Amino acid sequence: MTNLTNKTALVTGASRGIGRATARALAAAGARVIVHYGNAAAEAESLVAEIRGSGGKADAVSVDLTASDGAHKLAKEVRTLIGDRLDILVANAGVASSASIEDQTVAEFDRMFAVNVRAPFFLVQQLLPVLGEGSSVVLLSSLAARASVGVLPAYAATKGAIDTLVKHFGALLGPRGIRVNAVAPGVIDTDMSSFARSDEGRNFTLSIQALQRIGHADDVADVIAFLASDASRWVTGDTVQVGGGSKI
Ligand code: NAP
Repeated sequence: MTNLTNKTALVTGASRGIGRATARALAAAGARVIVHYGNAAAEAESLVAEIRGSGGKADAVSVDLTASDGAHKLAKEVRTLIGDRLDILVANAGVASSASIEDQTVAEFDRMFAVNVRAPFFLVQQLLPVLGEGSSVVLLSSLAARASVGVLPAYAATKGAIDTLVKHFGALLGPRGIRVNAVAPGVIDTDMSSFARSDEGRNFTLSIQALQRIGHADDVADVIAFLASDASRWVTGDTVQVGGGSKI
């Protein structure tokens, strides 16, 4: 099992879905976890209570990442909580909406780029003073970045940006001993991909996958925990596909 004893982690968007499962996995491996959320206060607080109830350490912090200074505010709050060392940053918070080229609005395009790209970029920037030798950054890409699935051109572009950022961040931060990777989930059963709960959505999902079940948040969280740990010490600048063999 992954050992993260004495490590400190920030997971953004940890109130629900993949982020929640990730915060749980990191805490179960021994990390102290900062549970970031946007609106879902009750869910975030229940996760903090669950982790503490199991003997772990966790705190919840709410910051809206659509705000242009959201990442700056979150980094400041995190630094107040954890002091001078952050070992793991999982920039997971994300938003997705489906729209054709014709129907895409500027406001929704900007919201997706704000939460999915701008926030991770500036979180890394603002947390650099506390990320050091041995730290691991994990960003969230998507199957949509490398394959046309659904009608998601703008969302897919936000995840293409993440695949590019991990290479550049990995190269620029490697000499400082900081690793940067991404995971690219396929369809995962969360609120974001609730279409997979319908028969039609489930059948479509299985038709593009090698493994014949719908992916769970834990399937992704376990890979993130691996990338966060020293077991992946020689892996950086990479995007790991976590989609049950989607579109291979
Ligand atoms: P989800 O269940 O919809 O949860 C999204 C999380 O992001 C929530 O905790 C939410 O917080 C937070 N968030 C959203 N907008 C925010 C904002 N403006 N400010 C602060 N927090 C915000 O999504 P998910 O399926 O777990 O997705 C997690 C990541 O995986 C995303 O980056 C997504 O693009 C990626 N991904 C998901 C799938 C999939 O099939 N599910 C596939 C590929 C990639 P609150 O609820 O507290 O507001």
